[in-house]
Amino acid sequence: MQGQRITPVVIGAAALDDLLDTLRVSGFRVLGPRVRDGAIVYDDLSAASELPIGWTDEQDGGSYRLKRREDGARFGYAVGPHSWKQFLFRPEARLWRARRLPDGELAVEEEPTEDQPMAFIGVRSCELHAIEIQDRVFMGGRHADRDYAARRDGAFLVAVNCITAGGTCFCASMGTGPKADAGYDLALTELLDGEHRFLAESGSERGAAVLAQLPQRPATDADLGAAGKAVAATEAQMGRTLDTDDIRNLLARNLEHPRWDDVAERCLSCGNCTQVCPTCFCSSVEDTSDLSGEVAQRTRVWDTCFSVDYSHIHGGSVRSSTRARYRQWMTHKLGTWIDQFGTSGCVGCGRCITWCPVGIDITEELSAIRATEDDDAQTA
Ligand code: SF4
Ligand code: SF4
Repeated sequence: MQGQRITPVVIGAAALDDLLDTLRVSGFRVLGPRVRDGAIVYDDLSAASELPIGWTDEQDGGSYRLKRREDGARFGYAVGPHSWKQFLFRPEARLWRARRLPDGELAVEEEPTEDQPMAFIGVRSCELHAIEIQDRVFMGGRHADRDYAARRDGAFLVAVNCITAGGTCFCASMGTGPKADAGYDLALTELLDGEHRFLAESGSERGAAVLAQLPQRPATDADLGAAGKAVAATEAQMGRTLDTDDIRNLLARNLEHPRWDDVAERCLSCGNCTQVCPTCFCSSVEDTSDLSGEVAQRTRVWDTCFSVDYSHIHGGSVRSSTRARYRQWMTHKLGTWIDQFGTSGCVGCGRCITWCPVGIDITEELSAIRATEDDDAQTA
């Protein structure tokens, strides 16, 4: 029944604790946003009081600051450095372990998969789209990723429609937000006009079952109107835009554009943009053994197309320059991803812009390339 909705209802801010308790009693590990180390991150949540109450974020290229809001909004921020990717496609995951037996044979132990299902609280629309993209990457082919599939299968997603756009957000341009349209079990819109409340809608049978257990009242036209206005205001506030018109072919036509040299002079090849991106999925494996040589293991770790080693094929790296690595990242994300998976690899969350130490902005880089084609067309 994914996608089937019942009539929206209204729950009070205090019902968030009931929601967390209901999920916990149903066996979920409950994860959500919290303030830690000067940022809003995703971690275990034991009570709604741990949410970032009264906090917002200010974001721009290479800059992120938390700021106090004048209200008690629970979800009055955009997205932070974390994404849900870390719980589904883990930064480090042991794949197997092998032990040498007394008779000299090797016993290979398969790594157990996660048993406890997870509930994600506060999933933004762009993040739902990012999860859908990674579902296709890890589970869409003939060989599903066992660890990802085990974690993803039971996950309960509580979406929150955005009431504040970040300075680097551009989901409206990518058609991925700011309102959640599918892929959630429950969707909430926080309403701060008058009574502090949430418009709540279910998107699945189990979402409806959880919602039925919360104290609630039917939504009025005024509630629905306030929710529509809040999301429309967020769309109008979006910090960035990206013109997606003919984007795949635009990039394919411009593989030798001088802008790649320009961006290479600024890019540090640090890979931050790929680590914070909710859709990037590059990984490598590391084999280690203990000092006695009796136990060995293989571990999968996140990698990045910005590292020289990542594209090392016999004889050396096929992308030895920063120019080649940045071009690979951006043309894959915005262009060839469409050939590979049928959608863009970018959901417009803006994290790569905010967390780039030198403020390189994917929307600006694309516009610079598009602008020269537009100029050429005018002078032709
Ligand atoms: S490329 Fe940048 S804006 Fe697009 S999804 Fe990744 S981090 Fe977000
Ligand atoms: S674009 Fe920015 S974040 Fe990405 S590798 Fe270059 S310097 Fe690092």
